[in-house]
Amino acid sequence: MAQISITVDGAALKLEADQRPTHIFADNKDVVVCRVNGVLKDLWTELSDGDVVESVLISSPDGLAVLRHSTAHVMAQAVQEVYANTRLGIGPPIKDGFYYDFDPTNTFNPDDLVKIESAMRKIVKEGQRFRRRVTTEADALKELAHEPYKCELIGIKGPAGEEASVEVGGSELTIYDNLGRDGNPVWSDLCRGPHLPSTKHIPAFKLMRTAAAYWRGSEKNPMLQRIYGTAWPSQDELNAYLELLAEAEKRDHRRLGTELDLFSFPEEIGSGLAVFHPKGGIVRRAMEDYSRIRHEEENYEFVYSPHLTKAALFETSGHLQWYADGMYPPMILDEELNADGTVKKPGQQYYMKPMNCPFHNLIYKSRGRSYRELPLRLFEFGTVYRYEKSGVLHGITRARGFTQDDAHIYCTKEQMVGELDSLLTFVLNLLRDYGLNEFYLELSTKNEEKFVGEDADWAEATEALRKAATAQNLELVLDEGGAAFYGPKISVQAKDAIGRTWQMSTIQVDFQLPQRFELEYSATDGTRQRPVMIHRALFGSIERFFGVLTEHYSGAFPPWLAPVQAIGIPVADTFSDYLGDVIKAMRKAGIRAELDASDDRMQKKVRNAQMQKIPFMVIAGEEDQKAGAVSFRYRNGEQKNGIPIADAIAEIKKVVAERTQV
Ligand SMILES: [Zn+2]
Ligand SMILES: [Zn+2]
Repeated sequence: MAQISITVDGAALKLEADQRPTHIFADNKDVVVCRVNGVLKDLWTELSDGDVVESVLISSPDGLAVLRHSTAHVMAQAVQEVYANTRLGIGPPIKDGFYYDFDPTNTFNPDDLVKIESAMRKIVKEGQRFRRRVTTEADALKELAHEPYKCELIGIKGPAGEEASVEVGGSELTIYDNLGRDGNPVWSDLCRGPHLPSTKHIPAFKLMRTAAAYWRGSEKNPMLQRIYGTAWPSQDELNAYLELLAEAEKRDHRRLGTELDLFSFPEEIGSGLAVFHPKGGIVRRAMEDYSRIRHEEENYEFVYSPHLTKAALFETSGHLQWYADGMYPPMILDEELNADGTVKKPGQQYYMKPMNCPFHNLIYKSRGRSYRELPLRLFEFGTVYRYEKSGVLHGITRARGFTQDDAHIYCTKEQMVGELDSLLTFVLNLLRDYGLNEFYLELSTKNEEKFVGEDADWAEATEALRKAATAQNLELVLDEGGAAFYGPKISVQAKDAIGRTWQMSTIQVDFQLPQRFELEYSATDGTRQRPVMIHRALFGSIERFFGVLTEHYSGAFPPWLAPVQAIGIPVADTFSDYLGDVIKAMRKAGIRAELDASDDRMQKKVRNAQMQKIPFMVIAGEEDQKAGAVSFRYRNGEQKNGIPIADAIAEIKKVVAERTQV
């Protein structure tokens, strides 16, 4: 047998020509797929002399995707075993799992998932090998004549969209056969691959839920049934994931929003448009007030702009050219008609604003600007409206109407480096004040195919962002070529209490809008110069940040944000008057305190206060009254007795002022 020389994970290796990666990596079960000359391949792939082979672990991003996609395959096989007349759509991996779309004869119900899962376990146990087979369009169409959706994919081979590319979209058309114990195919699917070597490499999986989904995402196409599942390299990791989901479910801001009476989405107003109730209003105002104070300290100037504008403004800004899909359709206003109904003066198109930037540019432009005024920092809690598809709406974290804490900074090129550096420090410190403490940064750099502005300016701005980011001593992730065409960007990603990552603030340099709006300032030498513009949203939107904080704190807000900071609970009715006076004194001291004067018994009142996640329960009984004191009961159940009233007030005021959690 001839020998070939290859490189495996950086080391030279000679081996028999019929050896495959599956033999090379036989001792390491965690290697489930490999890269050959940079391309992801099955472990059963044939090797040639000179190949460079790299192992890919099941725990790596590529390994996880292959595991999850292979599990989707097994699910499709199981579905067709259990429900023979089900037709197949597509089955790509997604974040933390996979799905497969089916056209079944009956809608799937939860019992079906149990049956499908048990059929899957049998397939996994059998250790069926995934075998790649190259085919032609004509042969594939014949072989898959009973699978109309697959046949459609064969027709659109090529740019079939991101998800369908799992099935087709490679340079060759391939079918994967699952081989049974006797080596004969038991099931086949049109697929680009790669897959795990065999089904027994699926360590842990679970089917999650079903949903309706249009074939290839278009409502013009038939409605299919989608089954979602998840798969992990170990049972422990699967369990941890399921626990995280359960914890996230408990913290879901949509659920807490109702339970804590914070906000709602009345049907009468429309999707994605929230109203804040009094308790949510208090949290929101506390968030905004503190942000205002901090912005004032950093020399921001506060501006206001309307929610509506003529189309011309968004033509100047370019939004109508590249963002029209994300905007609400226009209203036609001020049309004048003749007596006979014909148009005397055509109307004007008005749009709800999706962004505040163009308005701030008009404020900048409202008069001549001198270098002495720069940096000019304009800040607005600006409410914007974006026409998001109803499928992506998610409580207040993804809504159609929301209020950005939006700032635009206009500075000279020379000021840009210092400005970006102090800005990032300001942003991170403010997020810390709201209780987020773990961050990483993402730097999006120039897309060489698509950008406006000068190379030198891009290089300088990108370097300035990089320097500012590095100075923070945080992990910095490069998003190479990921910037918008108008400038580089830093985004701050924050981890919440259960380890989920949320994109929070963005700092975006913009070389385009100052040009489009012809913004200028007069420089020291009297020449007219163009300022640099920096967009900066810190919370993103107040609503979204509200939702993130609600989930981060699981509704148990720190006292400075809590709608009710202290609730008075008398041990018995006889102490109501005494405790009522204490609560009055607290209110006088600026504490959001209430007395529970309901007919409920004490234990019920304590439970209610716990449900409402109120930080301080202020309890008074006979001993307290005699001593002119109260007792505190905290959310964790701990109790502190005999606190003199003045000390009780001081303790609450202290944690509010210091914005600490209790
Ligand atoms: Zn596949
Ligand atoms: Zn902006």
